[in-house]
Amino acid sequence: MSVAAAIEVKGWCPGVLRPMQSGDGLIARVRPWAGAFGLAEASALADASEVFGNGHIDLTRRANLQIRGLGETSLSGLQDIVERHRLVDRSADAEAVRNIMVSPLAGLDPSERIDVRRLARALESGLAADTALHSLPSKFGFLVDGGGSVSISGERADVALRVVGQAVAVGLDTRSGAEWIGRTSPDAAAKTALMAARVFLGVRREQRRLRDLGDEGLAHVRSVLAPLLGPLDGDLPVDRDRPLGMIPLGAGRTAVGIAAAFGRLEAHQLRSLLAVVEDAGATDIRPSPWRSLYVGARDIAAAHRVVEAARDIGLIVEANDPILRIDACPGAPDCRSSSVDARRDARRFAALGFAGTLHVSGCAKGCARSTPADLVLVGEQGHYQVVRQGTTRDAPERTVAVEEAGTLFHV
Ligand code: SF4
Repeated sequence: MSVAAAIEVKGWCPGVLRPMQSGDGLIARVRPWAGAFGLAEASALADASEVFGNGHIDLTRRANLQIRGLGETSLSGLQDIVERHRLVDRSADAEAVRNIMVSPLAGLDPSERIDVRRLARALESGLAADTALHSLPSKFGFLVDGGGSVSISGERADVALRVVGQAVAVGLDTRSGAEWIGRTSPDAAAKTALMAARVFLGVRREQRRLRDLGDEGLAHVRSVLAPLLGPLDGDLPVDRDRPLGMIPLGAGRTAVGIAAAFGRLEAHQLRSLLAVVEDAGATDIRPSPWRSLYVGARDIAAAHRVVEAARDIGLIVEANDPILRIDACPGAPDCRSSSVDARRDARRFAALGFAGTLHVSGCAKGCARSTPADLVLVGEQGHYQVVRQGTTRDAPERTVAVEEAGTLFHV
C-alpha cells in the first residue's frame, strides 16, 4: 500500500506500516515485542526520530513508542530502521492487531511466578500466524499481567491474562470492567485468548470492542470459553499502584520507574536515559500503559544513579508529581483540530496547585483521556470550555479565556 493510500484509512491506530496524519506530520507507533525495547532498538528509534521526524516521541497509553513529525518521504527511512531492528510485522494488518500490553517488570520481578513474556510471545506468534485475526478492529487489544509488584491489571483490554498462583486467569472486558471468567494453564493461556478473539469476530456486527457486544454476545463468548477453563478461587482485586523512582523488588533486585510530562519524550532525553540505564545494567526499556518507562538495575546504587540522571534530564521520578494528575493532548500547533496550546497551558496550570485530576484537551475529541476528570478544559476558538466531573463530551458549564482558567482551580 502506498503511503498516500495508507494515510486515507480512518479509524485505526497508527503503525509504522500504516501511519496517521497529524498536525505535525505523520505519526507512527512502534510496538515492542513482548513489552520491551532492547537498548539498541530504543537508541535507533531515538536517532530515527531526530533524522526522519521532529524529535518528539510519545509514550502511548497502549505502551508503545510513537514517532512524530514524519514526512511522506522520510517515513521510508524510519521503516528501514525499524525493519533492520526486526521491530516490524509482516504486513500493516498484522501490525495493527499486535496490541498486547505486558506488565513492565516481567522477568525482572521475583514476585512474578511466571515470566509472562513467554505468554506474550505466544500471543504475538498466534496473531501473526492466523490471518483471519487480522480483521480484528485495530483498537481490540490484549493484556498480559504477571501478578507482580507493578501490575497492569487495572488497565482495560478486550482480553486479559493475569497470573494467579501457578495458573492464569482469563478476563473479558465488559461495560463495567474486566470480568474474570476462569483460569487456565500458562501453556494454554495464549490459545485461550486467541480463541476469545475468534469468537468475538464470529459474533460481532459493527462492534469494535468486546464490551460493546452486549449481554447476549458476551454470554456467547463466555459459553465457548467455559469448557476450556477451570474455576477461580474468589475475586481478583485490581492493583492500581503506579510507582515511580526506586522500586525495590526483593532478592537484591531493584527497578526504576520514569515518567515524562504528558507522555512526551524528546529524542535527546531518550538517548541520555539509554546511556545511563545501560551503565546501570539494564538491557531494555519497558513502556507502561500509564505512559512511563521501567528499567531494571544491577543494584541499589545503580538504580539511584538512574533516578538522579532521569531527574536531571527533565523526566519525572516522583509518583506524586502534580503534572502526573494532568492529561493533556498536544493541542496546537501539533494538532490541526486545536485552537489552544493545551500542553503549554497545562504546564502553567500544574504550577497553580489544583488538587484533583485535570484534563486539558485541544478539542472535544478528548484524545488524552476518555474517563472523567475532576476538571476538564476543552479548547474552543482560543478559549476553554469548562466541564466538572466529566469528559470532553459532556455539556460545558461555561467558557473562559486562557488567562482566566487558573481561577477555576480555587473554587
Ligand atoms: S483532542 Fe483534539 S486537539 Fe487534542 S490531539 Fe485529539 S484531535 Fe487533536
